Amino acid sequence: MKILLIEDEVKLSEYLRKGLGEAGYNVNVVHNGVDGLHMALEGSHDLVILDGMLPGIDGFTLLTALRKTRQTPVLMLTARVSVEDRVRGLQTGADDYLVKPFAFSELCARVQVLLRRTHGARDAGEPTVLGLADLELDLIRRKASRAGQHIELTAKEFLLLALFLRRKGEVLSRTEIAEQVWDMNFDSDTNVVEVAIRRLRTKMDVNFDKPLLHTVRGMGYVMEERS
Ligand code: CA
Repeated sequence: MKILLIEDEVKLSEYLRKGLGEAGYNVNVVHNGVDGLHMALEGSHDLVILDGMLPGIDGFTLLTALRKTRQTPVLMLTARVSVEDRVRGLQTGADDYLVKPFAFSELCARVQVLLRRTHGARDAGEPTVLGLADLELDLIRRKASRAGQHIELTAKEFLLLALFLRRKGEVLSRTEIAEQVWDMNFDSDTNVVEVAIRRLRTKMDVNFDKPLLHTVRGMGYVMEERS
């Protein structure tokens, strides 16, 4: 899931970027309204977190411009507790708002609700639990298990496993995995993907009868049940 954070307070945006990153989201941060609007209009994000007071273009103007073409869910951050600000934000097309200062856990909860709401509507067919053989991944409770045994995963391992399960039977290249899970392109000598896959395997394959995650030499990796 990709989140665009438009917030000019550097400390706050860094704190949120880190926290949301640890929660498993890919976060792009911009510090002014002009760049923010530009990136939001590209439409490659699942959610926008938008500060109301921004240099360049303020959050409300940005939202008005965005809503002309995009329905990306927007969570507004407002500095004041003024009712007019909240009403204005919601009328402009914000899906939810949070008044500063807020607890990170509250932000995270709002983000989850918004993403679930829009993705629930958009991909009504997508199951909330993915699985293969005796392996299960619950996307909402964010829990993994194999043969009924709980598997503790990091945020990146969770994303990695979700990617493999969504596309089981397909060979995924390292480059594609890097783009999907880390949202970046790696140099060919970087072994971040390999290291993460090795760790994931140790957790969900090594101690079980049948391996499910396979290496396809020179091509990448595939998750499938082999007899
Ligand atoms: Ca601000």
